[in-house]
Amino acid sequence: MLIDSHSHLEMPDYNRDLEEVIDRAKASGVGYIFTVGTEKKDWKRALEIVDSHPSIYAILGVHPHNAKEIDHETYPALKKLCQNEKVRAFGEIGLDFYRDHSPREIQQKRFREQIRLAKELRLPIVVHDREAHHETLDILKSEKAEECGGIIHCFSGDYEMAKACMDMDFFISVPGSITYKNAEGYREIIKKIPLESLLIETDAPFLTPVPFRGKRNEPSYIRYTAQKVAEIKKIPFDKVAEVTTENALHVYRLKSG
Ligand SMILES: [Zn+2]
Ligand SMILES: [Zn+2]
Repeated sequence: MLIDSHSHLEMPDYNRDLEEVIDRAKASGVGYIFTVGTEKKDWKRALEIVDSHPSIYAILGVHPHNAKEIDHETYPALKKLCQNEKVRAFGEIGLDFYRDHSPREIQQKRFREQIRLAKELRLPIVVHDREAHHETLDILKSEKAEECGGIIHCFSGDYEMAKACMDMDFFISVPGSITYKNAEGYREIIKKIPLESLLIETDAPFLTPVPFRGKRNEPSYIRYTAQKVAEIKKIPFDKVAEVTTENALHVYRLKSG
């Protein structure tokens, strides 16, 4: 079994053929999919999807791109929606200094607030960090993020950062870009991270792995990422599937015992 630990099935990219996308994922061995509602307009859609699909779970929060849209109604609304037991984590939250869709100071303030909210809700966090490694780590440390734990999704830092995150009980999640030709340095970093700390994700519809790069991504393609992890670590595909599945079930608290 494989788990796609992070996708965006509520995005309009799937309006036309969502059921087929989900069927293809099942047919290719994907046991669970986690879909991330990143802004107010997507939360309801994410919950609709998980309500009608037993093997799909939700993650809700406000993406750093949308940090500037947070108002006095946002957190009360999220608190309510996160009572749904199919919401397994809070996110994605963090910092994106690549696109800078929201001012950096606002992103940092909202990141801190949402870590506190996740702790209150007793949910692990899903962290988005793009070109803000230093600031992300600073905030995780000063907010004592090890108290909620979680995932650094689409991890793009160096090994030192991975180590610091693992020390705070965070998992490191690997997207399809690990299959890209120019990702040699990235593969070296992932090679050094123990399998016991790794998750795999599609981040669909984005970051489509080779051999489908350039097309829309979907959860069934998670196997190409698993395959690449197996290849660089020189271990069997089944081992990657087994351990990353265990890890995802653990961090999203779906494991009995
Ligand atoms: Zn992200
Ligand atoms: Zn995402």
